[in-house]
Amino acid sequence: MSYKCTQCGRKIPKIEGFVRCPYCGSRILVKDRPNISKEVSTD
Ligand SMILES: [Zn+2]
Repeated sequence: MSYKCTQCGRKIPKIEGFVRCPYCGSRILVKDRPNISKEVSTD
């Protein structure tokens, strides 16, 4: 399970206890569901 920063939109792959976004420092993270059931082709 990964998390997503609500401020910068980056994904945080792993979270341990009290963690904040390493990119922007935001402490507001949401669970980001993996969407691997279907890969998107850009062709
Ligand atoms: Zn962030």
